[in-house]
Amino acid sequence: MARRVDLQLYETAKVMAKMQARACVISRITGLSIADTRKIWHDEMGRSSPSGQQPNDDQWFLKSPLRRMHGALILQLYARAQKAMPPHAAFTHAYYHYARLTAGLAPRSTWQGDPAFRQSEDDYVIPFLRAHFLTLLYTDETLSDGQRKCNLQTRRCKSCGTLYLGHVEEVSSKCPICVAQKK
Ligand SMILES: [Zn+2]
Repeated sequence: MARRVDLQLYETAKVMAKMQARACVISRITGLSIADTRKIWHDEMGRSSPSGQQPNDDQWFLKSPLRRMHGALILQLYARAQKAMPPHAAFTHAYYHYARLTAGLAPRSTWQGDPAFRQSEDDYVIPFLRAHFLTLLYTDETLSDGQRKCNLQTRRCKSCGTLYLGHVEEVSSKCPICVAQKK
């Protein structure tokens, strides 16, 4: 029984690597060791996993209209997936669908076969590592005084109905696309 679960984790880890998830984040999500995830990465991709700093800036998600839209999309997909599957599978599932849904923005040269599997982290508006960070930091919970615990907030545009990420202190009730178009 334990063995079957392990195999599922390995298969999930391979899919993550193909979506350019770094070995460190794969290890964190699946509970597999770093040594295992580095090996999986190398076997699957034919090169070593990139490494580097962990994201820690929640404002990064607000720095372009696309990031705001994509961030809200990832959170929605993740919330839905969480209801149906275990945590390690839920995020991977959500990110896979996010990558498929937004593949039209990635140049055709950046993927082969499945558009969710791209050549590098830069071929996604929100890379796997940052998307995972977003799901960890995001919460709609409030403190006892009614203040939100998280500075980011998913909002629905009053003009076009799209969900987007905003800052709690932002006054605009329209999405960045509608603001740009002065709708
Ligand atoms: Zn709008």
